[in-house]
Amino acid sequence: MKIAIIGLGNMGGGMAANLVKGGHEVHAFDLSDAALLKARANGATPHRDVRTAVEGVAVVVTMLPNGKIVESVYTADVIGQAPTGALFIDCSTIDVATAKAVASAAVTAGYAMVDAPVSGGIAAANGGTLTFMVGGDDAAFAAAEPVLQAMGKAVIHAGASGAGQVAKMCNNMLLASTMIATCETFALAEKLGLDLQTFYDISSKATGQSWSMTSYCPVPGVGPQSPADNGYQGGFATALMLKDLGIAMDAAQGVGASTPMGTRAAALYRLFNDAGHGEMDFSAIIAAIKDGAFGDVGA
Ligand code: NAD
Repeated sequence: MKIAIIGLGNMGGGMAANLVKGGHEVHAFDLSDAALLKARANGATPHRDVRTAVEGVAVVVTMLPNGKIVESVYTADVIGQAPTGALFIDCSTIDVATAKAVASAAVTAGYAMVDAPVSGGIAAANGGTLTFMVGGDDAAFAAAEPVLQAMGKAVIHAGASGAGQVAKMCNNMLLASTMIATCETFALAEKLGLDLQTFYDISSKATGQSWSMTSYCPVPGVGPQSPADNGYQGGFATALMLKDLGIAMDAAQGVGASTPMGTRAAALYRLFNDAGHGEMDFSAIIAAIKDGAFGDVGA
């Protein structure tokens, strides 16, 4: 199948390579020359702009930094330029309102569109093991599923347009809260003199267990290999977690939902990010908690 992919960064670069491996004819565009060179080395055809990349394609995949950019790329250069009837798959993490608005504009112009944000970081993008949560009607999901399978291990239909973004933001708000709770719990156990491996062995089999503990333990040397074992590098950047929490907070405000834990998690990740740790993995927040950077004694 002839597929265009726009946005070849940390995530999109690996996804483009996996579309090529899946047997697709891949046409690629990014503002970065280095990203385009890498895409060419991985078997994609690089283009000098979006408009030429989407000419004659059946599918357009986007993996871009934010909603503003997604909206401008689709409205300025994809809608009206890709062949009528083409399927658009936006894998970026963006706000629900923008996802719905862009999909609605695409459908009005004679295209199909799904939002398909991902779970899994750069390693999963490179390894073709992402999880896609997809929002769109049944026909659009059925068309998107085989394309997404070339880049992932799971493709789940979340519901109507925008539902993929809702699932993504809710999942990441939960993840932020469980990570902070895991960090402060390990910090407390240590202060109270409990061996941390022993605590892990107990709690990972008890009711305190969570993915943040058993798949991504923030303590070096405890649990399976995680960014904590690598100086908190190369995982899911704090700045990206903060971006996702911002989307969740805006959405919660929009529907009047009470999110006391999510709101607190967003505030703590804001402080940690603004202290200069935006590039570090989000589990690195354990150091700030151990240092007492957030105060809270008796709060
Ligand atoms: P990135 O910054 O590495 O890549 C984004 C790419 O988009 C860059 O190469 C940039 O040059 C390109 N770009 C920006 N504006 C463009 C435009 N107008 N036209 C064409 N290309 C343009 O970001 P990333 O880490 O690859 O993340 C991409 C998306 O995936 C984001 O929405 C992010 O929230 C989401 N995401 C990232 C991760 C992760 O671990 N990195 C995990 C899950 C989801």
